[in-house]
Formats: sequence, structure tokens, C-alpha cells
Amino acid sequence: MVIILKDTVRKKEASLVRELLLESQLDFREVYFNKEKMFILFSSKVSAVTERISSFNFVKRIVDIKQPFKLSSREFKPEDTRINVGSVVIGGVEPVIISGPCSVESEKQIWEIAAEVASKGAHVLRGGVYKPRTSPYSFQGLGVEAAKWISEAGKYFKMPVVSEIMEINDIAELYDYVDIFQIGARNMQNFKLLKEVGKTDKPILLKRGNSANLNEFLMSAEYILCEGNENVILCERGIRTFVEYTRNTFDLNIIPTVKKLSHLPIIIDASHATGKCELVNPITLAGLTAGADGFIVEVHPRPHEAFSDGEQSLNFAQFRGLIEDWKVLKGPVLSIKKRNHLNKNLVA
Ligand code: PEP
Ligand code: MN
Repeated sequence: MVIILKDTVRKKEASLVRELLLESQLDFREVYFNKEKMFILFSSKVSAVTERISSFNFVKRIVDIKQPFKLSSREFKPEDTRINVGSVVIGGVEPVIISGPCSVESEKQIWEIAAEVASKGAHVLRGGVYKPRTSPYSFQGLGVEAAKWISEAGKYFKMPVVSEIMEINDIAELYDYVDIFQIGARNMQNFKLLKEVGKTDKPILLKRGNSANLNEFLMSAEYILCEGNENVILCERGIRTFVEYTRNTFDLNIIPTVKKLSHLPIIIDASHATGKCELVNPITLAGLTAGADGFIVEVHPRPHEAFSDGEQSLNFAQFRGLIEDWKVLKGPVLSIKKRNHLNKNLVA
């Protein structure tokens, strides 16, 4: 249950709610979300005290939320969350295209890639400067220098930049150079990091942990939301299964499921989900057809020379192919989306 107070609420009135809840020994957490003060009750049981609170004129509404994730649920917020990053909207009608190299390798490399993907219609530029690698002997990223290069390239080609942060210190270090902080699959349950990014004013691209179920994924989003940051973009990037012929298994099912249960946008990353460049295009198109709010793909001019994830990186011709295919599919996909939306409103 969530008790939402009116924005005109006075300190004294909020304190009264707090005291009543404490007195009745109800577990709760106070949050500011969407500029509104609210109390999230851990139980959804209606009691004399919640009945009483509901009668106060400074209470805007009380929402009963069955799901364990509260602020990220559709029960709490029926309408889709749209996230504005510069002039790009994520979670709007148009699926967003995010592309760039796995790692920023040099100033020249990121400019070459940025120019190419921008000219083909990418909206957001990606590039890792801190890399979570399985082996300590693999390339670890070039750090803040590389962040400056990608930031300049992004500004020049009018694309906001997304880059991964791996620890709390990276937030301040990369703050001026990155428009969207990426939390990688390996850090999806790094709760201290989630709390800290929840206190920032930057959108967060939250990747699904490779063994995380739906509940764990949305609970991680919840960690960010309940610190006050409403701008979470979920990303399906494949999970570990018994399948051995691809790096991971792309979970197509999760896209319509998330769209049903949550108002947060969800994008797809077929590069990490498959680990194979020849699978990236068909799987991206499948994800978009299932209703994803966008896609992220790794692109490199010479994938065999890439410092990381070369096998799954698209070369420029393959990236162009994907954009061409998406142009063919986009019309029908958007019409289906519009029709479903209309039907939902008619049923509601
Ligand atoms: C990446 O985006 O390069 C990356 C490491 O992603 P993930 O966390 O999904 O493995
Ligand atoms: Mn990668």
C-alpha cells in the first residue's frame, strides 16, 4: 500500500501520518517520488489506521499494490514513463536506437564510430570506459580520458552518451561526461551502487543480471526509484541457460511481461544476449516486434580488432543492414503498438 500526500502537505501533517504508522507498528518507508511525498507500507492490509489516514484532506490517494515492487509497478502508475535525455525520448512512441563500441579504445575510434552511427540515425551513443571483464588479464577500459572523448563526440553529433559505472566513485568522476549511467548485468544487485545512482539526476540504464528473474530485476529498479530517481530504463541483455551455442539466451518473454507489470521502458541488447554478430539483427528485430522501447547494439569498424566483444560487434555494413531492416518493420510495429494501446484504453 502506498500513501501519497498532496504537494501542499505541511510538515506537521506528514509527521502525523508518520506517528500514526509508528504507533500501529506498521513497517513503512518514506520516499519522495515524482516530487511527491509518500509512505510505502510493507503490508497491503487495510487497518483502522490506514482507514483514518485515508480520510485526511492532505492525502492525495492511497494505492493498493499487490506486487512486491511498488513504485515501478503499473498498479502504482498506469501510464508509461517517458524519459527525456536531451532531445531524445525513451519510452515514447518511437523506439530509441543506442549504438557504439563495447569499449572506447581511442579518440579516433570513438569519433569514427559516432560519425557513422549518427549518420544512420542512432539517437544515443554508447561506449564503455570501465569494463567489467571476466578475466583480470582482459582490457579493463581507458577510464576518464576516454569518457572525455566520447562526451565530445556525443556533443558534436548531438547524441547523448551512455557509459557504464562500476562503483560509487565513478558517479562523480564521470558525471560531467555521461548523460545516462549504465549499471551492468554484474552489478544489477550491487545495492549500494543502486542507492547512490538513485540519488543522482541522471537516467539509469539498468541491465538485467544474467541469472536474475523478473522480480529481482524489478526490485533492483525499485532500489533506484525509491531514492527519488524516476528515470530507470530496463535492459534485457540475455540470461544464462543450458544453451551453449550462444553467449546468453535472449528472453523475449520478458518484454511484454515487463510492459504489462511496469510503467518503466525496457530496451533490448542482442549483442550481449547472443554474443554473435550474425544473430544481433534478427534478435533485435524480434525484440522490437515484441514491444521493446529501443535497442542497443555494439558497433565497430573492424570488429576483429576490437579490444572487447569483437565477436558480437556489428561492422558498419551490418549496422546499416539492421537500420534498413528496422525501417521496413517500424511501420507495422508502431501500428500494432498503437492498436494495442487503443484496445487497452477501450477495455479499461
Ligand atoms: C556492456 O554493455 O559492454 C556490458 C558489459 O554489458 P553487460 O553488463 O550486459 O554484460
Ligand atoms: Mn560489451
